[in-house]
Amino acid sequence: IQKLEEASFRDPLTKLFNRRYFVMMLQAEIRRIKRYGGDSCVVMIDLDGLKQINDTLGHDKGDLAIITLSKVMMENTRNTDVCARFGGDEFAILLPNTPLESAGLIIQRIIDKLDTLDIKEFRISISAGITKILPNDDTNGISVLKRADELLYKAKRSGKHTICIDGTEEQNNS
Ligand code: C2E
Ligand code: C2E
Repeated sequence: IQKLEEASFRDPLTKLFNRRYFVMMLQAEIRRIKRYGGDSCVVMIDLDGLKQINDTLGHDKGDLAIITLSKVMMENTRNTDVCARFGGDEFAILLPNTPLESAGLIIQRIIDKLDTLDIKEFRISISAGITKILPNDDTNGISVLKRADELLYKAKRSGKHTICIDGTEEQNNS
């Protein structure tokens, strides 16, 4: 039964949490800060160029890129943060008790780590959108994810390998 439960909230390839579990944790976090206050952030992340890696180098290399990114995310965030894979090239992180500026630093730390990896065939780069939970407006998590997603698309439109933080200019890493 424990194994079945695990499977229902983990992404099988990476063992990160899946979208369903992430949304449950996000909703709990919204309820928590509505009562107790504080800043918490949500980050949406895209693995840049996954389709190209799949198409030119094959799906094994695509999977390797996905697994490597997941590992870097896990190793560079606290065990109280929630790292998830929503599917395909889409990832998310919930950062409880973390202001926007710190969230930006954490994602930059992940990008810097990815840049130091010694993988011969391809480079792993990400785009990210970061937003703060607004406990009075964000009642069910959908609006938070939508905001983070819009910022992510802004980051992708401005040339990928970029972080877009709510209310600030994008940071381009290229
Ligand atoms: P820092 O690395 O410059 O981080 C500044 C603040 O960003 C932290 O303040 C925290 O609020 C937030 N932050 C950084 N990384 C994470 C993360 O992975 N997850 C979340 N949720 N928040 C994060 P804080 O907690 O007061 O820590 C102050 C300083 O203490 C940090 O500055 C860092 O130098 C050190 N530190 C704290 N915990 C760790 C740790 O587990 N590993 C390392 N290497 N340093 C740590
Ligand atoms: P953890 O809290 O699960 O954090 C895992 C890893 O996320 C850390 O590995 C570090 O790479 C990154 N990280 C988390 N928070 C921060 C931060 O504020 N700043 C920076 N620069 N990196 C951060 P690391 O450093 O090997 O630490 C392993 C574990 O040791 C941490 O697991 C935590 O349980 C503990 N730890 C390390 N430093 C501190 C600290 O300053 N304060 C506290 N309370 N715990 C710490």
